[in-house]
Amino acid sequence: AKGRAARRKASAPEPGGVTLTHPERVVYPAEGYTKQDVADYYRAVMDWFLPGVLNRPTSVIRFPDGIDKPSFFQKHIPSGGLKHVGSVKLKEETGAAAVYLYPESAESVMELVQYGTLEFHPWGAKVDTPDLADRVVFDLDPGPDVGWERVVAAARLVRKLLADLGLQSFLRTTGGKGLHVVVPLNPPSDWATVKQFAQGFASALAGTHPLEFVAVSTKSVRNRKIFVDYLRNGRGATAVASYSLRGRPGAPVAVPLRWDELGRISSGAQFDIRSAPARLKRLRNDPWAGIDEVGQSLENVIGKLGGD
Ligand code: ATP
Ligand code: MN
Ligand code: MN
Repeated sequence: AKGRAARRKASAPEPGGVTLTHPERVVYPAEGYTKQDVADYYRAVMDWFLPGVLNRPTSVIRFPDGIDKPSFFQKHIPSGGLKHVGSVKLKEETGAAAVYLYPESAESVMELVQYGTLEFHPWGAKVDTPDLADRVVFDLDPGPDVGWERVVAAARLVRKLLADLGLQSFLRTTGGKGLHVVVPLNPPSDWATVKQFAQGFASALAGTHPLEFVAVSTKSVRNRKIFVDYLRNGRGATAVASYSLRGRPGAPVAVPLRWDELGRISSGAQFDIRSAPARLKRLRNDPWAGIDEVGQSLENVIGKLGGD
């Protein structure tokens, strides 16, 4: 299917005042989805997408000439700045300060789309409190020889072991090969505590289920196992935002699920630029309903992991 550009050829201002240039430009060549399709997608899911990136330092991946051409992973504001996008000066790991971008409105999102953004990758912290994490992400990365049913079982096991520690967790497809299990923290924790917890949890998992999991990123041992990528949980690390498009063939989308939906999906790329908005139209409730009301923290949890 060719994109919708044929219907809307001219550069029309998006609602909110960001003008989309080159709306007819093909971004996903295999499917024919255009820049206009991308803008229409983000406009359609905005109420669901925005809360996940709002006021969080956010890296974007820009594909100015489509997904088959070079992309740019960008965390800083380009010189000249962006009119509708927030900027915040934050300390880098090196100690130097840098200006990070963050979405502060729907217009921020549309302006980043205008500049070729497909993917949004927020921090697990807000701009006002960059040193405090309110999200832990367990990134489950199956090796090439791992079947989907094992990924499903792995996510369920992670959920159960977190529940045993008193932690409620939430599930998301990535739009790629795996799943993310997300743990909200309220009150939030400093990054050192989060890192210690994430690493401890991943090591314990790999230690007790050595055929299923691996907690080190050495490629050679990963083919038949699921890598629990705990490294997503440090200051400055990111994970893909819920409802972000991916710059991969098929225009897949990262989609939050209820746990009871997990058995009904067959891949981390189950949903795409068409089916993700269609799903939202059908949904009665947010699959992550209540995530902002969960009161849980890592205090008292680290000790239960054993080891440290
Ligand atoms: P998949 O399910 O295919 O693994 P994913 O989004 O989890 O999809 P990963 O490669 O596992 O992809 O990466 C997890 C997250 O880590 C990404 O969503 C991204 O935010 C971040 N990330 C990955 N690669 C980099 C990189 N080179 N630089 C900075 N952050 C990265
Ligand atoms: Mn992953
Ligand atoms: Mn990973």
